[in-house]
Amino acid sequence: MPGCYTREGDGLGYMIEQLVSSTAAERSRPGQNYLCIHGHFYQPPRENPFTDTLPIEPGAFPFENYNEKITSECYRPNAEAGNFAAISFDLGPTLAAWLEKYHSDVYQRIIMADLIHRQRYGVGNAMAQAYNHTILPLATSRDKLTQILWGLWDFRHRFGHDAHGMWLAETAVDLECLEIMARYGVLYTVLAPWQASTPIDPTEPYLVRLPSGRNMTAFFYNGPLSGAVSFDGNMTNDANRFAAGSLREHLVPEKRELDESQLIMVATDGELYGHHKPWRDKFLSYLIECGAPDHGFEMCTLERYMQLHPAIKEVELRMPSAWSCAHGVARWETGCSCTEGNSAWKGALRTALAHINEHASQLFEQYVGSVLNDPWAARNEYLLLRNGWESLESFWGRHVRPEQRTDPEVIWRTTMLLEAQYYLQCSFTSCGFFFEDLARIEPRNDIAFARRAVSIIWQAVGIDLQQDFLRDLVVAQSWREPVTGADLYRQLPEVPAGLLPALDL
Ligand SMILES: [Zn+2]
Repeated sequence: MPGCYTREGDGLGYMIEQLVSSTAAERSRPGQNYLCIHGHFYQPPRENPFTDTLPIEPGAFPFENYNEKITSECYRPNAEAGNFAAISFDLGPTLAAWLEKYHSDVYQRIIMADLIHRQRYGVGNAMAQAYNHTILPLATSRDKLTQILWGLWDFRHRFGHDAHGMWLAETAVDLECLEIMARYGVLYTVLAPWQASTPIDPTEPYLVRLPSGRNMTAFFYNGPLSGAVSFDGNMTNDANRFAAGSLREHLVPEKRELDESQLIMVATDGELYGHHKPWRDKFLSYLIECGAPDHGFEMCTLERYMQLHPAIKEVELRMPSAWSCAHGVARWETGCSCTEGNSAWKGALRTALAHINEHASQLFEQYVGSVLNDPWAARNEYLLLRNGWESLESFWGRHVRPEQRTDPEVIWRTTMLLEAQYYLQCSFTSCGFFFEDLARIEPRNDIAFARRAVSIIWQAVGIDLQQDFLRDLVVAQSWREPVTGADLYRQLPEVPAGLLPALDL
């Protein structure tokens, strides 16, 4: 990580550091069976990027929106029950920001869970997440780096220490992502068992050797169990039955005979526990408190397991690959049979977003190349300025060339173009490509984020990217409804005059 950010005056953080540093290292216990539940907690950003407010979502009634509904059904009960301290989890930055703003008590409990875990075991149980839930193998090299660094910055700000694990959106992986993650201190990630191209036993972690000479530890979750927990309601009706039956069935008999430790890992969306499946927050609590220990399983988390049993075997990976597509990452690129209907719109939407991203990047370099020491290094750290985690003086002092620092118009235009970069990153949120059709809210949201970038660039330098974007978006066609991406763009909420170039109807 670039070493410019420190938590100043954080008394609680300092206290925890002292406690953590005095925690005795755990000893491994031969023959112990461990259970790790990983929850991927995430909500895509759905705020109107011009007003920064969530629209009313009628499907969430009686709540105003799904974030409120899911907080009530899942985030709050799991946080109040203390479940976060016993499981492995990642909290998506966009969800973390929302929770911090609207339910700070729930947010604080989740953050404290990682601190409690560090105090108890010397290592955390929270993982970072690539910032915008972008399918990183489909991103440019520059965007991969930004996504990973923003995810790490966000984690450090929230949890008060560097992340050692990173959750990749849809567990989508390629070699370049792993290299970048390893370069910035990430030690481990989670993958689906079918992402291994060499044989594995998912009850232990594996080392992925990287061309740079670095390593990444890969934890492979138990595929059948994780699938059943996600999609078979009967599986999670009774924590005792789950531990006594399903869990024990997945232990490797040879390892038991040899008195070797093993880890069963179940990875699912975190929202499963109470939202997708009602009352499963209670299932989780009971599993943690009674079901697992009563049937010979100790609850464990990933970095803690790495300390007890570092990976020794090596694995090779299928790359690119992901947990919810059997066709590499085609689900988010060209479309594939993982979703019904004609998914040609996915390629067209991606092309439209890639074009505007490329064009905006050229303008960014053109207009700020003589202002910033290194425009892309400044973008990688822009989150610190945007979120108020670093002062203006400090940020500009580091990034702007001395002769440019005193011109307010130059600083304003540079900020605007960095802000446009921020919204372009948002426009690649994976949810826009995940589902079957273009005429859904998720693709429309990605288009809305790109429109925000169009607006900012128009205000900053008077250049109209809207026409080219619309020309590209026409090619993306819904198979369910007679609409194109350009129609979705035109149907976005109106904005005050002067914020967008004129729209040719
Ligand atoms: Zn697929």
